[in-house]
Amino acid sequence: MKVAKVVVDVPAAQTNKIYDYTIPMHLHDAIEIGMRVIVPFGNRKIMGYVLELTDTSAVERIKDIDSAMDMTPILTVELLELGKWLAEHTMSFYISAFQAMLPQALKANYVKYLHRLSEDQLDERLEALFAGRDYLDYKEAVERDVPLHRLKLAIQAGDVEISYQVNSKETIKKIAMIKLAADEEVIDAYLVDLGKRAKKKREIINYFQANNAPIPLKDLLNQLHTTRQTVKALENDGLLVTFKEEVYRNPYQHRKIIEATAPLPLRPQQSEALGAIVNQLHQKQAGVFLLHGVTGSGKTEVYLQAIGHALELNKEAIVLVPEIALTPQMVERFKGRFGSEVAVLHSALSKGERFDEWRKIQRKEVRVVVGARSAIFAPFDNIGIIIIDEEHESSYKQEDHPRYHVKDVAIKRAENHQCPIILGSATPTMESYARAKKGLYHLLEMPDRMSKNAMPTVHLADMREELHAGNRTMFSRQLQEAISDRLEQNQQIVLFLNRRGYSTFVSCRDCGHVVQCPNCDISLTYHRKHETLKCHYCNYQERMPQQCPKCTSDTIRYFGTGTQKVEEALYQTFPEARVIRMDVDTTRKKGAHERLLAQFGNKQADILLGTQMIAKGLDFPDVTLVGVLAADSLLNLPDFRAAEKTFQLLTQVSGRAGRHLLAGEVVVQTYTPDHYSIQYAAEYNYHGFFEQEMALRRAFQYPPYFYMTLITVLHPNPLKAEEVTRMICKLLQKHLSQDARILGPSPSPIERIKNRYRYQCIIKYKHEPKQHTVLTKVLNYYEDMMRKDDLLIQIDLQPYQLM
Ligand code: ADP
Ligand code: ZN
Ligand code: ZN
Repeated sequence: MKVAKVVVDVPAAQTNKIYDYTIPMHLHDAIEIGMRVIVPFGNRKIMGYVLELTDTSAVERIKDIDSAMDMTPILTVELLELGKWLAEHTMSFYISAFQAMLPQALKANYVKYLHRLSEDQLDERLEALFAGRDYLDYKEAVERDVPLHRLKLAIQAGDVEISYQVNSKETIKKIAMIKLAADEEVIDAYLVDLGKRAKKKREIINYFQANNAPIPLKDLLNQLHTTRQTVKALENDGLLVTFKEEVYRNPYQHRKIIEATAPLPLRPQQSEALGAIVNQLHQKQAGVFLLHGVTGSGKTEVYLQAIGHALELNKEAIVLVPEIALTPQMVERFKGRFGSEVAVLHSALSKGERFDEWRKIQRKEVRVVVGARSAIFAPFDNIGIIIIDEEHESSYKQEDHPRYHVKDVAIKRAENHQCPIILGSATPTMESYARAKKGLYHLLEMPDRMSKNAMPTVHLADMREELHAGNRTMFSRQLQEAISDRLEQNQQIVLFLNRRGYSTFVSCRDCGHVVQCPNCDISLTYHRKHETLKCHYCNYQERMPQQCPKCTSDTIRYFGTGTQKVEEALYQTFPEARVIRMDVDTTRKKGAHERLLAQFGNKQADILLGTQMIAKGLDFPDVTLVGVLAADSLLNLPDFRAAEKTFQLLTQVSGRAGRHLLAGEVVVQTYTPDHYSIQYAAEYNYHGFFEQEMALRRAFQYPPYFYMTLITVLHPNPLKAEEVTRMICKLLQKHLSQDARILGPSPSPIERIKNRYRYQCIIKYKHEPKQHTVLTKVLNYYEDMMRKDDLLIQIDLQPYQLM
């Protein structure tokens, strides 16, 4: 007996196990570990992944595998193991973990259809529906409003069944090619017989006589201005033959040819860093390097040369770049060095394009992959180096099932392949830098910029003073002057507004005071409905004050400005300025992002106004002024990482100015110019910031001193959501150690999403080996309710978003 152990495509707690299926005789040779198969499940057929093959099974009424979906495995043994680990590590379903590792195009598509089983006369509406057919798409029954109870009766009587058909969504692009099908003699004879009028036919044959190679049919038609009919006639006469050839969709083909680059002679700080990495590479050992280098210190060149060494050893490389930094400029740097060895995995590609890039990796046609988060699952089998650029970026954490952080997966894969990882950043996370200082990671510092230009000077514009001086606009006088000056000199300006411009913290316009939770060192969140301020960590609340608690001014209110409003204000203040606005609204269309940047690069605009998406990777020589409109909007998010994120963002944004010959300047507008994150960012003092932030993290028991787990409970009824959360808190209190701190139940900062109310519980702990088991018990306990009662419990073992 041949048995396959299969994970099935039903993401639910009760089906989150490994099922046995027998492999029927005719599939014995076809089925391998890591393939997708179609298996019977209940009364339908679904997709599954083969994890193992054995020859025994303890299952009594074991079923046969229906068919194989793949010709070759799509997951390697390493990736199958990784998927299992990922599911367990993040408390997700096996199926979700495997799906996360593969391109969208490989997910199964289920078509529900009706199957007529008997010839007996059916209800007349059903007879009309089937109209002599045995099978039909279920959608048809819905569209034609067939009464469901009649269908149900027919199903109960065994006359009709509902079936499912599994389709794979992947599509391989093929084009029609055409070539000669006859030899010279035949052709010559044919030409002799061909009448004088057949000029077009003659031209086509002459073309092939001159170039005897297959050509895409479309190109032939275009080049010779001929028609499909003429070609068809030649085919019928046996002179030509058409065939299909598989091609890759090439998302980069319309772009200019990328110039090849050679490794640059390194500066001392670079060769020191590279030396340590290459050494590790040769020792074939896993190990994490933290490359702390200011913007423009030459980190990318170090990555490129490290990859070069890995390729020399015949190994492969994975480079992860945050989605928004994966710009054409970035891709070109890798393609310029490694040419066609590079595949790019980017969510801006279409499903088909991404599938094609993935296939290049799977078929070993490339050895370097550059991509966003999910590229960590590239199906390489001999990885030499993994690079995570901008390692502090929160987009490296997946916020959906499975809730994984790419760093953890990278470390796991590096262990599997015994290879080094480089985490690169100008502003490493507290977690990473603390580990590097403890010696758990190798710390590599690159403090100097490549260009002779110093980092641009940062000016803090105190918006409280602006108000006192009677300036009620969005732009400080300092920023206004600087903008006018650049416009006059025909230089460019980048203006930055935080994406969460509509954030709901409350601050005093007079003294800058922000109302905070007395227990949590987190800003309170304004709730308009009850005119209250709440802490979503500990549930503390108070009434919205009428006056500033610090200076008694009555200009205390909640914050909020959007990019559109700023754009309008810009046109009012600087009517002559040409502005490009980049935010989610203007970049929704495919390619819009790139087009807007190209316009700015060609100097078709003076000002680039945007959100987070313009903070990274952009490199325009004529940008000499960067303005940050509201530094506080990020600082006061209800998140213990708010100061860290502000520091990172300000550093990042400042790096956009004066990267080339012209010196740069930065204006940061803020109501709290004295805040340490703003002060240290203005001085480019990472170490100073690190020390102060770590002291606070320790005092308030946040990561990296403590671990955190976030449990969110969702239910249409707020009372129910709260009750369940309360129960969970109690259970945790009882089963975890005395040292664990359990906060909650409290409403989530976003209290309701899609008509489900959200409550949360936060666990802070240092060492809780039992946590996993306890949480699994909690999930099992509520399993029934989750299935029947619209209850949802989400567990995030390393939350980055506390909303
Ligand atoms: P980072 O990735 O740290 O921001 P980059 O690698 O982009 O820095 O380097 C900044 C600039 O310096 C780039 O234009 C790059 O081509 C250039 N550069 C990097 N290394 C060298 C070098 N060794 N010699 C000359 N120029 C270099
Ligand atoms: Zn005040
Ligand atoms: Zn609190």
